[in-house]
Amino acid sequence: MKIKKLVIGICSIGMIVTVFKSDVQQISANDFSNTDYWLEKCSVAQENAAEAQKCREFKSYYASLTDKKEDEIGKLNSEVSKIKDNVDQIEKGVKDIQVVIDDLQSKINIQQKNIDKIHMEMIQLDIKIKAIKKDIDLRDKVVKDRMMNEQVNMGTNMQLEMIMGSNDLIDMIRKIEGLKKITESDQKDIKKLLKDKEKLDLQKKEQQRLETDAKEKQAEIQKKKETAEKMKKEQERLVNAYRLKEAELNEKMRSAKADISTIRNNMININTSVMDNIKDENFTSGDLLRPVRSGVKSAGTWYYPGGGLHLGLDYAAPIGTPVVAPADGIILYASNPYSSNNGFLGNYIGHPSGAGNSIQYLTQVNGTTYAISMFHLAQEGFIATPGAKFKQGDVIARTGNSGNTSGPHCHMEVINLGHMSMSDAIQRFNASGADFAWGTGWGNSALGRTCSVSGAPCRERPEEVFR
Ligand SMILES: [Zn+2]
Repeated sequence: MKIKKLVIGICSIGMIVTVFKSDVQQISANDFSNTDYWLEKCSVAQENAAEAQKCREFKSYYASLTDKKEDEIGKLNSEVSKIKDNVDQIEKGVKDIQVVIDDLQSKINIQQKNIDKIHMEMIQLDIKIKAIKKDIDLRDKVVKDRMMNEQVNMGTNMQLEMIMGSNDLIDMIRKIEGLKKITESDQKDIKKLLKDKEKLDLQKKEQQRLETDAKEKQAEIQKKKETAEKMKKEQERLVNAYRLKEAELNEKMRSAKADISTIRNNMININTSVMDNIKDENFTSGDLLRPVRSGVKSAGTWYYPGGGLHLGLDYAAPIGTPVVAPADGIILYASNPYSSNNGFLGNYIGHPSGAGNSIQYLTQVNGTTYAISMFHLAQEGFIATPGAKFKQGDVIARTGNSGNTSGPHCHMEVINLGHMSMSDAIQRFNASGADFAWGTGWGNSALGRTCSVSGAPCRERPEEVFR
């Protein structure tokens, strides 16, 4: 394990064995509402059987809190699934509206094409009308010029004045028709031109009518589209509101799950054993066994094969490989709230930071007291509980891949406590807030506390101590 942070995790072990003696009178045995108090009191072996019984009762009360949290999570889950149903329905509605909007948009586009076409036709008509008008004007001038010449021949300008004083061409034609002063062919041409122009004007009027009609239709569709878009926006606003609510519920659920995880983590630290029993034990035995009996050594002390500080011995082994008690002894700390195979480099869960599921084991071999750490253990097959005593070779847990790991392995450390008595060691560990390093530290300074250069507590090279 690479220890990068020396954060002491949510460890409730230890602290102040003496405090509860004075406080216990004030709290009824059945009032467990001050869980912090009880967690602290029950984090260590108790003075006598009556106190141990109280911790047993607290343990079952504390476990019931998990059930309440589970209920809460169940309710939150059903709320979230209801919201999900609603969101699904609304989102389907939004999709349907979008289809309508797309359809209306394509209709608007068709209308636009229609309008553009009509507009082009009107431009063409305008050109034609202008040309005819030019033609008529030209013809008008020709007729007037001729009339002017004929006036000279007639010797009078009375008729001319009459003609030239006409309001417009039609008026003039009417007048000159009466006078029979223009040729039949002129009359015919002008009549035809006027008729053509009239026809074109009519066509233009019709096109204008069509254009107005198309524009009205388009405006109508546009209005429908805007209504649909408004509806869509409203639905989307609803979806967003639901999504916010869902996030809020999920947050509550995460919090409840975290509470459960904390409760489970703390549960493991509720100690129902009695201190007196531990004091009287005799823990001496012959060899210190390596807790992982099979597997392959993948890294030793004090450095990784590739460099980098490494304060323990790593044995790579498949998840579920037995981890045994190195000698007769007692569990000081045991916690397995994490799933067996959640490891990755940088995953600093567990206590100590990055250890994942972990055990601290206390034993005495040939008069020397040792504290032995085992990290990255599996959640399953985790038999160890704080205060539990084991015989050498007993299976206490299984190897895993939890915490700051790059693959399934067990990280083991050995702290030599010298001639410290078992009960002193228990008290010291509890008072330290479960310091797995026993004051030797975790960084490079720990190298100044190896047993080759320092007295106890000091760090042993596990590969030299284990048999
Ligand atoms: Zn390691």
